Amino acid sequence: MAIEIRKHVAIFLDRDGTLNEDCGYVTSPEQLVLFSGVPEAMARLNQLGVRVILVTNQSAIGRGLMTIHDLQHIHQVLADLLRVHGGRIDDIYVCPHRPDEGCGCRKPHVAMLQQAAERFSLDLSKCYFVGDKCSDLEAANKAGVTGVLVMSSVYSEAALQARDNGQFPIAHVAQTFVQAVDWIEKELCVDPSALR
Ligand SMILES: [Zn+2]
Repeated sequence: MAIEIRKHVAIFLDRDGTLNEDCGYVTSPEQLVLFSGVPEAMARLNQLGVRVILVTNQSAIGRGLMTIHDLQHIHQVLADLLRVHGGRIDDIYVCPHRPDEGCGCRKPHVAMLQQAAERFSLDLSKCYFVGDKCSDLEAANKAGVTGVLVMSSVYSEAALQARDNGQFPIAHVAQTFVQAVDWIEKELCVDPSALR
């Protein structure tokens, strides 16, 4: 697949529990602790010529635990941590609502994926979603995106069970984000030596 075609391919990424430790609510940059190897793996995704798009539920905003400005600061720090190793996130979609607000953007709803698809003219059937929770895999399934589960949080096991109960398919189960990127590279038929 030519790099040109991959412009219509996105790798959607969950944040907490996928890229960084899920410590409940991350409301300050000090609480954003990336898993080992994440910046380097992010750079490898970027080299594939795909869009890398963060899709995150942040109900801490709706709960009054932090402001949008606080979140923007956290994401600036995230960008800085990734840039050290040449990694980059192309766009970020946030649901700031509480579950009881009944919005259409909070995963497992698909509004954030649809907005991204419109903005970047994505072919969702060629996109991937890497996440650790049922809500990630369910959103992926509803949007026609290929779901990849990472076993890096306390929620991962429940997603495996939901798959076994037939709630949604999972194309690949990886132990970590780094291993999920390994798999996506192979899926996109990349010869790593061609990229360096
Ligand atoms: Zn929302």
